[in-house]
Amino acid sequence: MHILISGAGLGGLALAQCLRKQNISYEIFERDESPDARFQGWAIAIHSIIGELKDSFPDDMPDLKEATSHLKPLDLPAQMGLYFPGRPGRMGVEDSPEMPIVRAERRRLRDWLSREIPIQWGKRVVDVQESEKHVVVTFEDGSSATGDLLVGADGINSVADLVRSVRKHLLQKEAHDLLKVVPLAAIVGEVELSGEAFKRQLALGHSLWMYMSPDLGFFNFGGLHKVHPDGVSGRHYWMLMRRDPNVVEPDHWLQTASQEEKLAHVLETVQDLPPKFREIFEATPSSGIRPTAHIWRDLELDSLPAGRVVLVGDAAHAMTPFRGEGGFHTLIDAMKLAKTIVGLEGKAFEEIKTAVAGYNAEMLERGGNAVRSSRDVQTKSAGGGGQSKLVSANQFAKPLPEVPAADILKGQKIASPLVAQA
Ligand SMILES: Cc1cc2nc3c(=O)[nH]c(=O)nc-3n(C[C@H](O)[C@H](O)[C@H](O)COP(=O)(O)OP(=O)(O)OC[C@H]3O[C@@H](n4cnc5c(N)ncnc54)[C@H](O)[C@@H]3O)c2cc1C
Repeated sequence: MHILISGAGLGGLALAQCLRKQNISYEIFERDESPDARFQGWAIAIHSIIGELKDSFPDDMPDLKEATSHLKPLDLPAQMGLYFPGRPGRMGVEDSPEMPIVRAERRRLRDWLSREIPIQWGKRVVDVQESEKHVVVTFEDGSSATGDLLVGADGINSVADLVRSVRKHLLQKEAHDLLKVVPLAAIVGEVELSGEAFKRQLALGHSLWMYMSPDLGFFNFGGLHKVHPDGVSGRHYWMLMRRDPNVVEPDHWLQTASQEEKLAHVLETVQDLPPKFREIFEATPSSGIRPTAHIWRDLELDSLPAGRVVLVGDAAHAMTPFRGEGGFHTLIDAMKLAKTIVGLEGKAFEEIKTAVAGYNAEMLERGGNAVRSSRDVQTKSAGGGGQSKLVSANQFAKPLPEVPAADILKGQKIASPLVAQA
């Protein structure tokens, strides 16, 4: 078997690691010119399958938490804090030996997943030809590759890119027929915090926090992107979202609003939040507001044809990130597909089709359920009414003890204790 993988994101690289472990021949192609071509995102929670990943990946992989945790160099557990107006204390989920959670910084995660994987950069798939004998992909630069199976791990894609994606080949449908706009207007900000302000954010939730109230009419969270090497400062990000069915209209105010206008809107919106939940918004300079309009789309497919082309991850089931499950299901797809591929060696086309059909059925049902429940979270908590079920990182939220900000870094390995006290 020779496997072609289109896309060196989470799914493509995880599959490549599984194939490396099984000594199965593969090539992996990425449209980006280099690892630095695009911002990889902030942080992602990996949970529930950490042991399975370890077993599925080669033995030379460094420890996941050591290599990727966004809290490094601090030795704090990944933790998501949830706050409710009128209810004292906080709820949340947290990394524990019984239920491990690694909150991975996205760039570190990609580097970890790329270990010993010969990614072919600057290879954008533009055409796919499939026959009973093999599959041929052609790249934008005119080159091509031939294999027994093509795995489309090319993500949700931009609407423009969809025209060229592997999913387009499989379904013969355009983006607007497949992707569903999530009726949510979002403003995203990034800010550097240090000293006491940094500690106050960690105290709300080491990894992220949410102040949840359907009555507010908006949904907000503050998250840690990563701690800086000094251990006393970090890069943070936040999102403020409001239910808005008109978000894709070309004349929607967010399409043209300046960074200053967006920040002013955010500050007015959050003005009634308790001060500790306003701080991250108020500390953000207008230059920290993401200039582009952020439109969430999700994707649910009923079926896929079975043959020599198969999908993993967002290409098959893109979802909103509010339950933190998109990457989780992508990794499960990769591990399950690798197991399917192991059994295909020397098999005839009909047997390959049967095995791929089995993989597709499980993947689409599991992924579809996750797409629907992730959509449900945002409509309920961002002004759609009702109380959403409190699940994060596949765990039900439970009461979490509160640690004062002044004590949050006690006993931590930091560059200089003097800096920490400052
Ligand atoms: C803001 C945000 C926060 C998120 N937070 C979480 C979280 O906390 N937990 C979680 O589980 N999930 C989260 N997700 C979802 C998660 O990021 C995705 O589910 C996951 O990245 C999907 O992996 P993938 O490999 O399918 O796609 P991607 O990671 O998008 O990778 C696709 C790759 O394919 C490449 N590509 C595209 N087209 C082509 C082409 N034609 N030829 C060659 N290469 C191509 C792309 O450049 C890219 O590198 C979040 C998503 C977002 C947007």
